[in-house]
Amino acid sequence: MTAAPRVSFEFFPPQNLEASFRLWDTVQHLSPLSPHFVSVTYGAGGTTRDLTRDAVKTLHKASGLNVAAHLTCVSATREETLQIANEYADAGVSDIVALRGDPPKGSGAFKAHPEGFGSSVELIEALADTGRFNIRVGAYPDPHPDCRADGGDVEYLKRKFDAGATEAITQFFFEAETFFRFRDACEKAGIDAPIVPGVLPIENWKGVKRFAQNCGAHIPAWVEHAFDSAIRDGREDLLATAICTELCSDLMEGGVDKLHFYTLNKPELTRDVCHALGVVPKVSLRDVA
Ligand code: FAD
Repeated sequence: MTAAPRVSFEFFPPQNLEASFRLWDTVQHLSPLSPHFVSVTYGAGGTTRDLTRDAVKTLHKASGLNVAAHLTCVSATREETLQIANEYADAGVSDIVALRGDPPKGSGAFKAHPEGFGSSVELIEALADTGRFNIRVGAYPDPHPDCRADGGDVEYLKRKFDAGATEAITQFFFEAETFFRFRDACEKAGIDAPIVPGVLPIENWKGVKRFAQNCGAHIPAWVEHAFDSAIRDGREDLLATAICTELCSDLMEGGVDKLHFYTLNKPELTRDVCHALGVVPKVSLRDVA
C-alpha cells in the first residue's frame, strides 16, 4: 500500500462575518490532518488585497499553521506589490504563491499596470531578489488559455523555476494521466523541482464546469455523463467523493507524495477524501488516556 500523502489546503479570504466563521470552521476541521501548509488566494483582478492580507496574518497568528499568501501582479505598482510581500515577511509569513493573475472581469486579456510587474516571471525574480521568501508558482497540465504554442506552459514553468521558484502547484484536472503527461514533459525540459497536483473536490458541478471552461481544464466526457446521472438521482456527493478519491489514489500510485486541495472553504469533501487516502488526525496517547 502507498504511504499517505502530505497535504496542503487552499482557502479564499472571507468577505463578511458569516464567511469568516465558515473559514474558521473549515480550518478547525482540516488542521487536525496536519497540512504541510495552507494558502489564501488573492481575489481575481486584485480585488481582495486587504482581505487576503488580514486573513493571512490572522491565520498565521491564530492557527499555528504554516500559511502561504497568494500574490498577483494585477492592478498594482511594483512598489505596492513588494510592500505587501515585505509586510508578510515582517509578520513571519515567508511563503508566497506568486502569480501573474487574471485581469478584472470583462477587461479582456492581461495588461500590466504601467508601473507594475509585467509577468509572473518578473514578480518571482523580484521576490527572489529579496531573499526573504519561499516561492511557489502555478502550473498548467491542460493548456492555459494564454499558452502560445505546444509545450508553452512547460517552457514558461521552466522560466519560473529559473527565476527563483521552488515548487509548483497545478491547476486542477480530471484525470491522473493529464498530470503524468505534464510531469514527463517537465522532466524532459530539465525541470527537477517538485510539481504538486492541485485537486478540486467537486462540490458544485455546474460551478466547476464553468470554472473549467474559463481556465482551460479539459472535462472528459465520462465525468460529464457521470455527473448528469448522479444529479438526476440526487447522489452527487457520493460521486464527487468517489471521483476525487480515485484521482488522488491514481496519482499516488504514480509516485505523487504531495496533494494540494482547493477547498473553496468547505471542509467535508476534502476531509473525507483525505481520510480515505490514509491522511487522518494524529491522536496522541494523552488524547486517548
Ligand atoms: P503564467 O504561468 O505566468 O502564465 C500562464 C501561461 O501563459 C504560461 O504557462 C504561458 O503558457 C503563457 N504565458 C504568459 N506569459 C508569457 C510570456 N511572457 N511568454 C510566453 N508565454 C507566456 N488567480 C488569482 O487571481 N488569485 C489567486 O490567488 C490565484 N491562485 C492560483 C493558484 C494556483 C495554484 C493556480 C494554478 C492558479 C491561480 N490563480 C489565481 C489563477 C491564475 O492567476 C491564472 O491562471 C492566470 O491566468 C495565470 O497566472 P500564472 O502566474 O499561473 O501565469
